[in-house]
Amino acid sequence: MTRRSPIRLHRKAIELTLRHPWTIARGTSAVRHNVLTRIEHGGFEGYGEAAPNARYAEDAGTVLKALDDMAPLLGDDPARHEAIIDRLAAALPDSGAARASVDIALYDWIGRQSGLPLYRLFGADPSRAPLTSMSIGIDTIAAMQERAREAVDFKILKIKLGLGNDREILEGIRGVTDVPVYVDVNEGWTDPRAAVEMIRWMESMGVVLVEQPLPAADLDGVRYIRDRVDLPIIADEAVRTLADIAPMASVYDGINVKLQKSGGLRMARLMIDRARALGMKILLGCMVETSIGVTAAAHLSPLVDFADLDGNLLIDGDPFRGVLIRGGRLVLPDLPGLGIDGRW
Ligand code: MG
Repeated sequence: MTRRSPIRLHRKAIELTLRHPWTIARGTSAVRHNVLTRIEHGGFEGYGEAAPNARYAEDAGTVLKALDDMAPLLGDDPARHEAIIDRLAAALPDSGAARASVDIALYDWIGRQSGLPLYRLFGADPSRAPLTSMSIGIDTIAAMQERAREAVDFKILKIKLGLGNDREILEGIRGVTDVPVYVDVNEGWTDPRAAVEMIRWMESMGVVLVEQPLPAADLDGVRYIRDRVDLPIIADEAVRTLADIAPMASVYDGINVKLQKSGGLRMARLMIDRARALGMKILLGCMVETSIGVTAAAHLSPLVDFADLDGNLLIDGDPFRGVLIRGGRLVLPDLPGLGIDGRW
């Protein structure tokens, strides 16, 4: 037997500039600091990306540190990705974004080495890729209307709310477009009774789902809301990974799965199956990411009910090109692995 060489892991911090300042209920950002990863083995490469989020106590520094700790644990065969990811999760359980970047790079490597686009590894039919929403952060009503007008290619908008002028915002959006709207409150409301009143009003405003209306810890509050409204209530901040899903099945109608929360494609796939088995709806989301992270998620999109995969469209100067949008629908690359155009 020939000795295999260890998997080599490279990483690089990058600064992403938002096209417009990005405001959600918990804060504003003008730039994001992500980390790109690249694995090398046997003459093939695989690319990944970490998009750390302060909500989960991660930043570029914690990601770089976690990646340094992960590098010696990768072993010598990327095809054993399940064992590798399990090993990383056991050693560094709180490193969702760092682990996601390695998981994505491993899948990209496997796809390139086997000549298969990732969607084929997941048994997904690219012709069933869903529409994606385009997200509009909180801003002046006029600026949000302008974003909505710019989003002519999209058949669904996702509107960020939760800072107090929610009715004015939705009325403003309705002044310029009739497309269905996802609403994301990002834990921004605190009063379940006021939330019920607001969501009932939204039912007449073309809203089709409401994401994370209350703080993740307020399960009684969400139950109170859900018993009194018709719109599906989707958990985002309340569901990070697999073990979080079952306890939420009696609280929420669905979950928002993001590779950066779950720790990558493998766990996201398990979460999709678990949520489906529990009768829950699945929204596939992302963070502010380049086309590496967003394209990785897009390869799972034919398996879900709703997609919000627009993080690469929120930044200026995406260094990569991958998933495209045509008629509001995700178009998956047909090349091996992620199918990304661009190198580093
Ligand atoms: Mg959300």
